[in-house]
Amino acid sequence: MPVIIVGGGIGGLSLALALARRGLRSVVLEQAPALGEAGAGLQLGPNAVRILEGWGLGEALREQSIAPLRAEVRDAATGRLLIVNRLGPEAESRWGAGYRVLRRTALQSMLWSAAAASGRVEVRLGGAVASARSESGRAIAALVDGGSVEGEALFGCDGLRSIVRDTIHSPTPPRYTGQTAWRGLARMAAEAEPLVQVWTGPRRHFVRYPVGGGLVNMVAVVEADEAGIESWTAEGQGAELATAFADGPEPVRATIAATASPWRSALYDRPPLPRWSRGRISLLGDAAHPMLPFLAQGAAMAIEDAEVAARLLSQGGDPAAALLTYDAARRPRTAKVQAWSRRNARLFHLPAPLSAGLFGAASTLDRLRGAAPEARFDWLYGWRA
Ligand SMILES: Cc1cc2nc3c(=O)[nH]c(=O)nc-3n(C[C@H](O)[C@H](O)[C@H](O)COP(=O)(O)OP(=O)(O)OC[C@H]3O[C@@H](n4cnc5c(N)ncnc54)[C@H](O)[C@@H]3O)c2cc1C
Repeated sequence: MPVIIVGGGIGGLSLALALARRGLRSVVLEQAPALGEAGAGLQLGPNAVRILEGWGLGEALREQSIAPLRAEVRDAATGRLLIVNRLGPEAESRWGAGYRVLRRTALQSMLWSAAAASGRVEVRLGGAVASARSESGRAIAALVDGGSVEGEALFGCDGLRSIVRDTIHSPTPPRYTGQTAWRGLARMAAEAEPLVQVWTGPRRHFVRYPVGGGLVNMVAVVEADEAGIESWTAEGQGAELATAFADGPEPVRATIAATASPWRSALYDRPPLPRWSRGRISLLGDAAHPMLPFLAQGAAMAIEDAEVAARLLSQGGDPAAALLTYDAARRPRTAKVQAWSRRNARLFHLPAPLSAGLFGAASTLDRLRGAAPEARFDWLYGWRA
């Protein structure tokens, strides 16, 4: 029997490919009529890049992504540089894999083509799942259209409002963070420098990086009261975004002006779950651990989950036991990354003197310890399955 994967986002497709690489079959049930996502960008830390390379996507990644040289954090009011982390060749030598930025759609189609080429993955589009259950020796997904699919095990890779999660825990709504994210692609006149740039300031921050082809991805986060908007395709009013950053630095204003139609969505969060698995059912990606975007690690965590889950399932033995081992292996790490993302959310929105003080203190500590600033990320980017 195949493994049932509910949801064909980055998490679901990663799991399908990771299983296929180990000779296991899967069926991906995706509610959308077509695969694809709003075409903004994604940062991939070395922890995710290393796994993607292991899945045979190294060449496609090199062709379709950019390796930024540095990540720079600046004060939005003064433009003052607060902290720099070296990426580029330093990332390769420090963490054994590069740091990459690319279009989301590029990653999604890379995963999809490799999964399809394996001959071990069936994707059913328009396959909305109504419920999931675990019975002795099998897992079953009931489809909204009335059919059902049986499998060896079932993974809910169905995102923030996972219905599979609701079969393991009592349903609870996610928590609105009070923040709205705007994102989009800006077409710039001149090719942008290969940098990840962040401007921080009270109640808002702005991130940009080039994704190739003259396009720059932008993410602007503002504190606002907009619970309810939860879609990458909710088209925002560019003028509203421009007003929010009207007193921002010139590169920020220029990037916003060059973004044709930004999308916006409210940001939601959930506390870590005490367990992800029951019988032959488990969770993966945002369904298990919704990740705020402030450490740029949500997709990376889904990719790590997929690698660990596929390894354990391919070892044979009882699938329910493999799911429990997966669950225990992944929860502490993803909870730590969630906590760091929340911490960054606070750090990025501090008033200037406070953020300058905190970033300054971190740099001084690094110097006193004789450590490179990048050493702070060894636990994150140096992770191996
Ligand atoms: C502003 C922003 C910027 C980000 N930037 C980064 C970044 O730079 N780097 C990074 O690593 N992460 C980033 N993230 C996080 C990352 O986007 C997510 O963590 C990741 O996409 C989660 O993938 P997923 O597959 O778990 O969930 P999703 O992408 O939500 O996919 C879930 C899929 O399940 C399907 N589905 C849902 N319900 C059902 C059902 N009942 N039946 C069938 N199908 C169903 C949905 O249609 C969807 O295709 C960012 C997030 C935000 C908000």
